[in-house]
Formats: sequence, structure tokens, C-alpha cells
Amino acid sequence: MSSEYLIRRSARAKRLRIVVKADRVELVAPMRMPESLIHQFALAQQDWIRQARQRVQAKSQNAVQGFAPEEYVDGVTLPFQNQELVIRLGVHPRKRLRIEGINRTTLLINLPETLHGAPRQQAIRGALEKWFKQQAQFQVSEIVDQHAPRFGLQPRSIRIKTQRSRWGSCGPHNDINLNWLLMLAPAATLEYVVVHELCHIRHKNHSPAFWQLVAQHLPDYQQARQWLKHNGQRLMQGL
Ligand SMILES: [Zn+2]
Repeated sequence: MSSEYLIRRSARAKRLRIVVKADRVELVAPMRMPESLIHQFALAQQDWIRQARQRVQAKSQNAVQGFAPEEYVDGVTLPFQNQELVIRLGVHPRKRLRIEGINRTTLLINLPETLHGAPRQQAIRGALEKWFKQQAQFQVSEIVDQHAPRFGLQPRSIRIKTQRSRWGSCGPHNDINLNWLLMLAPAATLEYVVVHELCHIRHKNHSPAFWQLVAQHLPDYQQARQWLKHNGQRLMQGL
């Protein structure tokens, strides 16, 4: 963790703040703040720091532009399976953030009016992630119900996860993990990844027999596989 940020002391700093630059993350701290407190703060904020670093690095390296908008403002859109999801932002007087699906293509996120800047953006991303995970849970169980009975490929458990490097996995005891970011891909892509992991219940490898089983479930699976090959890196950029 210590290599992930630099501590910079500032006589003007009244409180601790995080500055994310292209090549480093700085914690700007008041002169006399104990170092242990700074590390404690960094530890509590480590997810945020990591995400901020990834975003800044992706930008500075001219990496592929993700699917998500640069900034969440009222009316921006996100891909959601085969459609566009419009994000409407509202304010509400209470302290808690609320997210409501108005219909299948519009989401209303009500935010406390006191929330601004980076924390506001972070809250929106957090709310969206939670919403996408719920949607994924629902859709994935439908896909499993549809495909698993055919050849008795019942997983022991299904978890929707945040993963930065993979779309899905099937453990030795047939516990399946799936990446919720697949909800931003065409619906056929999610179906393909779920089926792929289900087929690992029978074959713990990528042998011809494995691919044959995938094709029995989804004769057109190559299309979804190609889509992931071409767009996976963009998709992994997240929200
Ligand atoms: Zn596989």
C-alpha cells in the first residue's frame, strides 16, 4: 500500500486530502498530523484511490475510452444490455442517496443536495454499481434456470462480483462468479459468459469437448465471444 501514494506535508493544509495525478497519488496532510493517521485514512479510502488512479492512468495513456461518461451529469447515458439507459439526477433533502428505476430505460438517482464534486461522482458510481449488480443477479438466475437443467449443470452458488480482470469463473466446487459489468454489454454476451461458466461444471478446461458443450447451448456463441474480444478492454474500464 505504501508504494501507492506519497505523503506531502503542507503548511496550508487544514485537513487531509487526496490529490490524484497522472503518475502518482498524493496525500496532502497538515504538518503535524501523525503519519499513522494518514495511513489509516489511505487504508479506508483505498478503493477510491485505486479507482481514481486507474481512471487517471487510463486517460493519460490514451487507453481505450470506456463506455461510461467522463462525468455523471443529468441526462448522460450508459449502455444497458441492448439499450441505452438514461441517467437522470435529482436532489432530495434527505441525507441518503436514492436510486429509482422510472422505467426500463431511465434511472433516477436522487442525491443529497449537500453532495458535490468528486464525492458526488463517487456516490453516483456507487449507486449505479449497486443497481447493475441487482439487475445482474436477476438476469443471471434467469439464464441459469434456462440452461442448467438441460445437461444437469447446476452451480453450487452464483455471485455477482466486481472484478478488474475477468468476466466470470467457476471454482472447483462449482461456485460461479460473474462480473456485473457484463450488464453493459449486449444481452447475448452475458448469456454466453454464464453458459461458458456453466459448461465448466462438466469440463474444467477449454478442450474441444468443452466448446462443443457451449455450442450445444448456444450455437452462435462465437459472436458473443468476438464481441468480448473487441470490446472487453473498454468494458473493463468500468463506470
Ligand atoms: Zn473458461
